[in-house]
Amino acid sequence: MLKYLSALVILVSGYSLTAQDYRWQQRVEYVMDVRLDTKTHKVNGSQKLTYYNNSKDTLRKVYYHLCFNAFQPGSMMDVRSRNIADPDGRVQDRISKLKDDEIGYQHIQSLKQDGKDATYHIEGTIMEVTLPKPILPNSKTVFDMKFESQVPVQIRRSGRNNREGIAYSMTQWYPKMAEYDHQGWHAYQYVAREFHSPWGDFDVKITLDPTFIIGGTGKLQNADKVGYGYEKAGTTVKRPSGDLTWHFIAKNVIDFAWAADPDYQHDIMQVPNGPELHFFYQSKTADNWKKMQPLAVKHFEFMNKTFGKYPYDTYSIVQGGDGGMEYPMCTLILGEGSFGGLVGVMAHEAAHSWYQGVLASNEALYPWLDEGFTDFASQESEAQLFNTPAAEAHTGSYRGYFSLIKRGLQEPISQHSDHYNTNAAYSIASYSMGTVFLQQLKYVIGEETFYKGMRQYFNAWKFKHPEPNDFIRVMEKVTGLQLKWYMSYWVNTTKHIDYGIRTIVENDGATFVTLERADNFPMPVDLVVTYKDGTKELYYIPLNEMLGSKPVEDKSMNRIDLLAWPWVNPTYVVKVNKKASEIATIEIDPTERMADLERKNNLVDFSKAVIPFEYKVK
Ligand SMILES: [Zn+2]
Repeated sequence: MLKYLSALVILVSGYSLTAQDYRWQQRVEYVMDVRLDTKTHKVNGSQKLTYYNNSKDTLRKVYYHLCFNAFQPGSMMDVRSRNIADPDGRVQDRISKLKDDEIGYQHIQSLKQDGKDATYHIEGTIMEVTLPKPILPNSKTVFDMKFESQVPVQIRRSGRNNREGIAYSMTQWYPKMAEYDHQGWHAYQYVAREFHSPWGDFDVKITLDPTFIIGGTGKLQNADKVGYGYEKAGTTVKRPSGDLTWHFIAKNVIDFAWAADPDYQHDIMQVPNGPELHFFYQSKTADNWKKMQPLAVKHFEFMNKTFGKYPYDTYSIVQGGDGGMEYPMCTLILGEGSFGGLVGVMAHEAAHSWYQGVLASNEALYPWLDEGFTDFASQESEAQLFNTPAAEAHTGSYRGYFSLIKRGLQEPISQHSDHYNTNAAYSIASYSMGTVFLQQLKYVIGEETFYKGMRQYFNAWKFKHPEPNDFIRVMEKVTGLQLKWYMSYWVNTTKHIDYGIRTIVENDGATFVTLERADNFPMPVDLVVTYKDGTKELYYIPLNEMLGSKPVEDKSMNRIDLLAWPWVNPTYVVKVNKKASEIATIEIDPTERMADLERKNNLVDFSKAVIPFEYKVK
């Protein structure tokens, strides 16, 4: 008895320890003081980084990202771009042609850990630091660094003089501590895309030519000294002579980005019960930017209501970069395109605040959890902004997914974002397949529980770097269904869905419909029978792996719950208690949320003279 009891105690306490340990987070506190020389494009700065090791491991090394080093001829980003079949048009061979005064670099002038010199080794964009003093579990240490960097001519995301003439897009611009978590270090070379870093606070002072205006992450601390629209209304701003220092603070974010230009207009709009939105744009794009501002407010309201509340009190939409790229509390987007394009990019990048900025999944490892969820959310918001049918919000993503398969480019979406064979496969996998994953999940679990689950996921996992299983567990808890099979097929395999109607046979006044799983991805089936009198019935067949049924979604239609379909069975027979002559159509998933690769076998229309399936009356 005693023996059993002690075993039980060990088991229970062991379990709870594991559950807590699993989600420890490293923490960083940056204090940076940098000077940007706008004539030489060099940044000189100091960085004091307090690093909290909240893991159970003793760390003898740490790793920093030095992303500006990617913009040098022969860098991994350069070589990759010149070898991949479908290079990004913005990169191509442009890095290989950069001259010495156009490249980017990050020179570390000194690095101390708690006052002692640390030795370091730089390879490409990663710096490995061998620590003079190991960092023990649950302890902190302080790194003091001096660095000089050269801001590259803009090739990708960051750099000087973007194609619209924005002077500085300052992203991935400072030596940044890599993330260490229960999977280990995430110190990836900067080859193309996606970032991951620990949570922390940033206290950043930027000194530069006083004619430049800065927009970016965080809240400006010396607004009344800086002015440029940041000051309290009615304040007379007296800027000191000489260079101007801007002081920003951002709390609990994973990164700090900014942009600077002398020609920025700066407008502010308040989201009701939400953040203050700051807009920075050049005067020649003012018409579209002014028109976009109320839509940005509506977008934040929609996102807050539908997916959870944005937790910071500011967000900046800044003209800069080379397309659109998300950063905490801000985005850099191109500003000169069409109005629709501008709103679309704004909506997408701002929606990233939920998935990259606040949940902050590892977007290098799970880009679909970030790009896919972001695309999904912004497509729904845009449908509302432009008053287009919500049911069609994601059709483009389905088309993208189907075309990827037809082109033979599909790869499992569980891989690291940089390692896809083509940029096309990466982007369709991450954006389109991530979107379809969610829209199709609505089909599996029902629309109402889906949105409830999306909000619970956000609230449960904000500031915690969730992983795919964390998402599906929330959905399992919300629905009471088992859903791992769905994620596993979608994410780890390249299997496809195809359900079809094989035969329809009338017998004894009833109609027997034989359904088939024609491909190897199992799903639950919504079979809608429309009768000639106009009424409809839904024959609902859950998959046995679900261990349950989705709630009724459409109350206007009678739902008949059938026995679960065991996933090993290739066929399933549905009995409709009416004669075939009373039926107008029989259709699998008329909502088209299931990514069924071959829809031709989904519908039988009895009014058509030719029925492509075996239709027998016995
Ligand atoms: Zn994105």
